[in-house]
Amino acid sequence: MTTTAIETVPRGGEWLLEAAPQETIFTPERMTEEHRLIQQTAQEFTNEVAGHTEQLETKDWDLTRELLRRAGELGLLATDVPEAYGGLALDKASAAVIAGCLGQCGSFSATYGAHANLAILPIRMFGTDEQKQRYLPSLVTGETVGAYCLSEAGSGSDALGAKARAARQADGSFVLNGEKMWITNGGFADLYIVFAKVDGEHFTAFIVERGFDGVSTGKEEHKMGLHGSSTTPVVLQDVRVPADNLLGEVGKGHKVAFNVLNYGRFKLGASTVGGARGAIGESARYAASRRQFGQPIASFGAVKHKIGGMVARTYALESMVFRTVGLIDGTLEGVDPGDGGAILRALEEYAVESSILKVAGSETLHDVLDENVQIHGGNGFVRDYPAERHYRDSRVNRIFEGTNEINRLLIPGMLVKRAVKGDLALIPAAKKLQDELLAPSGAAAAPDGPLEAAAAAVGMFRKVGLAVIGLAMQTYGQKLSEQQEVLSFAADIVIDTYAADSAVARARAAAASGATGADLQADAAASYVDGAAMRIEATARSAFAAMAEGDELRTRLAGLRRLLKVTPANDVRLRRRLSDAAVERGAYPL
Ligand SMILES: Cc1cc2nc3c(=O)[nH]c(=O)nc-3n(C[C@H](O)[C@H](O)[C@H](O)COP(=O)(O)OP(=O)(O)OC[C@H]3O[C@@H](n4cnc5c(N)ncnc54)[C@H](O)[C@@H]3O)c2cc1C
Repeated sequence: MTTTAIETVPRGGEWLLEAAPQETIFTPERMTEEHRLIQQTAQEFTNEVAGHTEQLETKDWDLTRELLRRAGELGLLATDVPEAYGGLALDKASAAVIAGCLGQCGSFSATYGAHANLAILPIRMFGTDEQKQRYLPSLVTGETVGAYCLSEAGSGSDALGAKARAARQADGSFVLNGEKMWITNGGFADLYIVFAKVDGEHFTAFIVERGFDGVSTGKEEHKMGLHGSSTTPVVLQDVRVPADNLLGEVGKGHKVAFNVLNYGRFKLGASTVGGARGAIGESARYAASRRQFGQPIASFGAVKHKIGGMVARTYALESMVFRTVGLIDGTLEGVDPGDGGAILRALEEYAVESSILKVAGSETLHDVLDENVQIHGGNGFVRDYPAERHYRDSRVNRIFEGTNEINRLLIPGMLVKRAVKGDLALIPAAKKLQDELLAPSGAAAAPDGPLEAAAAAVGMFRKVGLAVIGLAMQTYGQKLSEQQEVLSFAADIVIDTYAADSAVARARAAAASGATGADLQADAAASYVDGAAMRIEATARSAFAAMAEGDELRTRLAGLRRLLKVTPANDVRLRRRLSDAAVERGAYPL
């Protein structure tokens, strides 16, 4: 299936240097008929799962397994698997669309993600042909269920600090000992991807079956949310694992772990779009029906401002998710679906974008769900309405798949690494910007219309991002990784830039094609850019203040003011229009 007609696919992070050609940007509007059919199937299945919410919340794992089998029957577990192993080998856009639908059901989405992303993917990408033949067909049908065992009580973010051990035996097998923590699907999975250190040293991945002697699971954790998802310790006591179940190479477990997490982050971003879209519908319908002071609360400006803001942020997130999927699929265009190496390279190429989606997705969803509770008032705080459950369920998104702090450090860290390796022309771009800032500025022509103004603003965001990263590299050199606060500031600017750029590009494409709803898309993009301009200015000020002082700081701040000469949009009007459209449709309006 062809996602895009991208001739030359932009490389990871290039959007930070210059605007990408419009035709290289995939948008939801460019989905193929096949994507839409998959979306319809996934949405119908999601509705079926949602109908079982109460039962799933009681930890009915038989029902969970039945639903996974049903997902298997519908092909929803097969997207990433080649046909030779029972899969459908669909593009990543299809996978993102499915994740988006299931994202509306927090607990089942976690179950699905652990199975389809974290268990299937490692075998699909790193398994031998024999391992793929043995395990993938039944994982794809949902007959067997998988889980991913990386974390331990003492090593979460510091995953390579694992204590689990694998002792090499004379016959080539391994004996595993250790305890893994917080394992999604732990309580009922049949198969575990386990990470342990061979001879106490070499971090390595293994495929461990539940039936192997010495495998047991602990009690279900009492969690804040995701009550319908199993989370348990997995205990390994003298578990003999045959040599055939070594996954990848001894000492290369980090490759398995991190590449799988790259994909997991991208998919998590995709799933949060579904959760946010669903919550906007809930808020819109509630605001239309709930009356106070003789009017629907949807008529109050304060409520409109919230719903409009929820729509604008979700639109930007959705635009980033589809753009990223287009980049990944564009890179994989024409590649043999059996070529696991090509998939690994594509995921690595867009690892920065995947981390951005993880952070932006989890935080957008969190904020949208927070406002959803607020719009529901007292009803948002009680269990009769789903707003309360969504809010609890989403909190963990900022913690797993690499915490948002870790991902924030990775974003500029990976950009700098690419720059130093010469894969991204960030250093010359930052130098050129320095010269531009020192040269006298001419009067810029006023942009022609709100979308052009938004595009011009994004151009400024890019420059601010480059200025902050450039100064950080210059100031700290090799020791930049020790400056977590500055790295996090840079990440925030980069995230807002990618989101704003993706939203504006999509809205411009809609305007150029005269698509229905193009006006609303323009409102959403302009509203997002307006908020981003304020956030970026504040964040850049903090970053510069951390790196410079006295006259140098004053000069930098003057440069920042020159760069960010963005006239504020009338965000009140923009958000009112977005909110009115959502309330009229009783759903996310774009
Ligand atoms: C519901 C749920 C399901 C899960 N499912 C799975 C699963 O299926 N498989 C699995 O392997 N794991 C799973 N996990 C574990 C999850 O991946 C970890 O909780 C996560 O990686 C964070 O690790 P930690 O809890 O040890 O926190 P820590 O690493 O101790 O972090 C605590 C805080 O310190 C910060 N921090 C840590 N290191 C740094 C640093 N270097 N710089 C700056 N800040 C830092 C973190 O960002 C965080 O805010 C799950 C967790 C939960 C809650």
